[in-house]
Amino acid sequence: MKSRLNCMNEERYRELRCILQERREEIAGEVQNKIRTVRTEATHSGGRRLTDVSENSELDIQDDIEFALIQMKAETLARIAAALVRLEEGSYGYCYECGDEIANERLRVLPFAARCRSCEEVRETERTRQRVLAARSKAVSLCGAISG
Ligand SMILES: [Zn+2]
Repeated sequence: MKSRLNCMNEERYRELRCILQERREEIAGEVQNKIRTVRTEATHSGGRRLTDVSENSELDIQDDIEFALIQMKAETLARIAAALVRLEEGSYGYCYECGDEIANERLRVLPFAARCRSCEEVRETERTRQRVLAARSKAVSLCGAISG
């Protein structure tokens, strides 16, 4: 506990914990709502499903989408739990690249941000540059394929 307070002040720790917990409750609520909706729909459409096969498969797809959404949210919940552990350890909220504190406002929007704004911008620029280069080399090889 002491080591955490050495590297992060109490106020920031509380605020970050608050951000993560709020997010966790929000998503947990959404997951519960979704599960409830899926269950209600399943019982309501249970009889009808047997009569129409084409509708049945359509509903199955919808169920799959719902399920995927729930799964995605469950994964987010797991990430929040991991972030809370890292917060206790004192490693959450710091830039992966330069080690600086990531602004609370940034973490509020992007709770899993691994980099501070300036490092992220550098990374984005680099990524865009590589994408352009990749697109260019692809275009070149495409031209080569056509002419050759
Ligand atoms: Zn940074």
